Amino acid sequence: MIQEVNGFQYDPSKCTNCLCCRLICSFNSTDRFNPLKAHISIDFNGPGSTVSFRDECLKCGLCARYCPFGALVEKEGVN
Ligand code: SF4
Ligand code: SF4
Repeated sequence: MIQEVNGFQYDPSKCTNCLCCRLICSFNSTDRFNPLKAHISIDFNGPGSTVSFRDECLKCGLCARYCPFGALVEKEGVN
């Protein structure tokens, strides 16, 4: 089921748990690729996957821009 969180739409049916969203977020914040430092988190469980964001999220949209599968998109006009 599509989730709307933090100004984003997340479609678990398209998510492959590729980590791109978490990698680009951590790189943007820390200059290191470390998904544990990302402000976005994917609890991957196939179609039951969920997304969450830390309070520190900058709403920069990079995570959605770098999602190769269209699973995470910015809701238009939110940011
Ligand atoms: S919007 Fe920016 S800061 Fe927030 S989770 Fe995505 S990449 Fe990270
Ligand atoms: S980049 Fe997209 S497909 Fe990859 S884990 Fe993040 S939301 Fe899922």
